[in-house]
Amino acid sequence: MANLILDSSFVKIPTIKFKKLFINGEFVDSVSGKTFETVDPRTEEVITKIAEATKEDVDIAVKAAREAFDFGPWPRMPGATVDVPESANILRYYAGAADKIHGEVFKTSRNLHLYTLMEPIGVVGHIIPWNVPSVMFFAKVAPSLAAGCTMVLKPAEQTPLSALFYAHLAKEAGIPDGVINVLPGFGSTAGAAISSHMDIDAVSFTGSTETGRRVMQAAAMSNLKPVSLELGGKSPVLVFDDADVDKAVDLALFGILHNKGEICVAFSRVFVQEGIYDEFEKKVVEKAKNWTSKVQFDKILSYIDHGKNEGATLLTGGKKIGNKGYYIEPTIFTNVKDDMLIAQDEIFGPVMALSKFKTIEEAIKKANNTKYGLAAGIVTKDLDIANTVSRSIRAGIIWINCYFAFDTDCPFGGYKMSGFGRDYGLDALHKYLQVKSVATPIYNSPW
Ligand code: NAD
Repeated sequence: MANLILDSSFVKIPTIKFKKLFINGEFVDSVSGKTFETVDPRTEEVITKIAEATKEDVDIAVKAAREAFDFGPWPRMPGATVDVPESANILRYYAGAADKIHGEVFKTSRNLHLYTLMEPIGVVGHIIPWNVPSVMFFAKVAPSLAAGCTMVLKPAEQTPLSALFYAHLAKEAGIPDGVINVLPGFGSTAGAAISSHMDIDAVSFTGSTETGRRVMQAAAMSNLKPVSLELGGKSPVLVFDDADVDKAVDLALFGILHNKGEICVAFSRVFVQEGIYDEFEKKVVEKAKNWTSKVQFDKILSYIDHGKNEGATLLTGGKKIGNKGYYIEPTIFTNVKDDMLIAQDEIFGPVMALSKFKTIEEAIKKANNTKYGLAAGIVTKDLDIANTVSRSIRAGIIWINCYFAFDTDCPFGGYKMSGFGRDYGLDALHKYLQVKSVATPIYNSPW
């Protein structure tokens, strides 16, 4: 297992064809002519150089998206003609929703024919993170396309390649020029130019809470565009005395080590009831030692140092693996106090903070003791505990005896500082629509 992951020849890098910005249906150089490197985290080697978008490129792309929105066929196309490849569930789901967008007709007390139209919100700016770049691309692009919007998307600077490839596929699939524009670049330049743009009608952002705050500020200070924010998390899993300990250990480890902990919903805080705590601790440490992982390195190592300095007990892990690649051992701390940095900050790596609780009330209090509210887990066979706790935890999704259980039709998003607005499901479609009311008098009405 360890060798497979550390062997850089295990996954071959395909030939990279698309390295330029995708604007108005064409791959083009950036106005500045600048490029930036994209790096393979397994080997620390440069994969290729990509054209770098800055404010000038954002302006050009927004102009193309605006033209495509105001005068192109896309926003006015009947939903039933939307033709997208069958390959991805997200695209299929929203292609199915595209011809089911409708307003309402009201029975008013006045002599009026009064109805609503659901219209696309306009030109949308999408800003996405690096940790799941393909899913993020489709989670943003598919519902906004189905709503009839045009868009400018900035992938994360670490992962620009898949978005450029999908732009090429969108062109092949016949999406009109200007509808999808992809602008690789950095947050403080291209990202800021999107969130502060006067001619972008809405921004859908996924990333850290800190950046989300900046995006919202820029939106407020420019044209008051609506913003939806899918932000960070510090998700708890609560393991009750009646749980099967082996299964609970597997679930908790999967919850923090899946995708190396680089998942916004990672179970980074594990609370175990006192009756099974000792057995759980012993087993979780044994199993963690046989797991391998790789990550965004320096930040995680510095949190591990913080954990040690704050007085938490390092049960296993905490060090770099090997000499090449950004790999860190699965790491478990116990004796973690709720106010320690490792219990409060999103580390975004394979670091578990393990603690004990006595009562259900204490478990709920500990789980909610965070500024985040993205996801939470409950491990128990007792339905009463599951139902009570799931209603008491302030998080956008609750997993009972499971982790990472989703489907495309399930709304996904945060409570508290994990953001607002939902991706997936029909909720996401509605983010990209706005309601217009239309009234006309009815003359010669019998009423
Ligand atoms: P990040 O906030 O550093 O960057 C996200 C995106 O914002 C990138 O494209 C970046 O270039 C851009 N950006 C940076 N500064 C900006 C600015 N001033 N204006 C506009 N855009 C700017 O996040 P990251 O490190 O790429 O991703 C990890 C974070 O994303 C974690 O916090 C994770 O929890 C979160 N995340 C959340 C979800 C969710 O659905 N809630 C999903 C995946 C990741």
